[in-house]
Amino acid sequence: MSAQIGVTGLAVMGANLARNLARNGFTVALHNRSVEKTDTLLAKHSDEGDFIRTETLQELVDSLEKPRRVLVMVKAGKPVDAVVDQLVPLLEEGDIVIDAGNSHYADTRRREAALAQKGLHFVGVGVSGGEEGALNGPSIMPGGSKESYEALGPLLEKISAKVDGEPCCAWVGTDGAGHFVKMVHNGIEYADMQVIGEAYDLLRSAAGIEPAEQAAIFEEWNRGELSSFLIEITAEVLKHVDARTGKPFVDVVVDAAGQKGTGRWTVQSALDLGSPVSGIAESVFARGISSQKDQRAIAQEALAGHEAAVEVPADFVEDVRQALYASKLVSYAQGLDMLTSAAKEYGWDLKLDEIASLWRAGCIIRAALLKDITAAYKGEDKPANLLFAPAFAESVGAAVPAWRRVVATAVQLGIPVPVFSSSLAYYDSLRRKRLPAAVIQGQRDLFGAHTYQRVDAEGTFHTLWGEDRSEIAAVDTH
Ligand code: NDP
Repeated sequence: MSAQIGVTGLAVMGANLARNLARNGFTVALHNRSVEKTDTLLAKHSDEGDFIRTETLQELVDSLEKPRRVLVMVKAGKPVDAVVDQLVPLLEEGDIVIDAGNSHYADTRRREAALAQKGLHFVGVGVSGGEEGALNGPSIMPGGSKESYEALGPLLEKISAKVDGEPCCAWVGTDGAGHFVKMVHNGIEYADMQVIGEAYDLLRSAAGIEPAEQAAIFEEWNRGELSSFLIEITAEVLKHVDARTGKPFVDVVVDAAGQKGTGRWTVQSALDLGSPVSGIAESVFARGISSQKDQRAIAQEALAGHEAAVEVPADFVEDVRQALYASKLVSYAQGLDMLTSAAKEYGWDLKLDEIASLWRAGCIIRAALLKDITAAYKGEDKPANLLFAPAFAESVGAAVPAWRRVVATAVQLGIPVPVFSSSLAYYDSLRRKRLPAAVIQGQRDLFGAHTYQRVDAEGTFHTLWGEDRSEIAAVDTH
């Protein structure tokens, strides 16, 4: 018996993907650097499907049908290079190496190019849904060559999450596109989590609503347009009472948010692309500030607040819901806009409708509104920005009065709402007829002769600031 796919790296993610593949009827060859993990998996789960135990990469490779499919699920970074380097001499032209870990897309591009030179396919696959998703059906974002997807796609589609029978898996684009899309997914996830946190803080600090009562509000929100996995689990977190103290769980947890780095990667890449993902960036920075515990302790004594005694608007809960909806949508709009910029930069033909569709189930940002986002990008007439799709222009537009009231109230009360407020600033910046960028262009031209364009004439100009302030035609030095 030969295996249809091999998995090397059997820590929690690799083991769960291997089990998912076996449960779906594929014969899976197993390998791990230390054989104990292979044996533990087999001892516990060998009845779930057909597994082949191997102890060396050579044995793993020998056990596979051709073209060979080897799924590498080891620690991201150097270990991936180490395993790929060991695998390459053992493989033949046309074989496929799959990296389904959280690798940086630039590493994936590099590895793909190197393996392509040897006639091998290297496929970076974004997988979202954590341990549970890996076992029961994740959202899967494969990159690599289109040709490799013909051999690999059917397996991945079979093990992915499904919506109405449709797989949450589709080839997204060449080389590192899969890992890039997964990275941006994580950036949106950071912003989505932060806006929910801001909503909680406002309901608690401005409206005095305790966590248990808020849990009911989030459950209610989860039945409407905000319906999503993150809203659902927030209700669970807020409902939870600490067994040791009897206090709400959220009151006994240290308020310093951790991060593994994919949000930061999104922002770093966005800066390189010149893509304004302000809400996503603020959500990464918010985690950073939360972790600066020493400075926060000093600031409580050292810095004045001068909070105003403002009335919380009537129907504040509904206002917050609308602000949350609008800010969440801006995060999606920014993430998808970043994908558009990346597609231009890297020559990817990213299909935003298909990508939004992949996120409808199995992943952390799964949400009811992804169905409408998918619809917004279907057909010929694609919006330049998600917010311009008629359905969203209308729904976000309707939320604007509440959004402004919420941000204004938060500012007056000294409650930080970095993503609510930066998302509103993004929305207003897009709408505004004239931005103060004209002043910045003037400053740049004055101190650095960086030149500018005029609203009323073609060409590039420079003002002789240090002389008679006359204007001359100039070479564009933007
Ligand atoms: P880890 O990231 O903890 O990696 C452990 C595995 O890597 C073990 O099998 C280990 O082998 C192997 N390994 C480490 N270094 C080497 C090396 N130099 N050579 C060979 N093997 C090596 O495992 P996880 O299952 O947590 O994660 C796997 C990947 O999935 C990572 O990229 C991670 O970021 C990603 N991930 C994705 C999630 C998602 O939701 N998509 C969630 C969690 C993780 P040994 O047993 O011999 O030490």
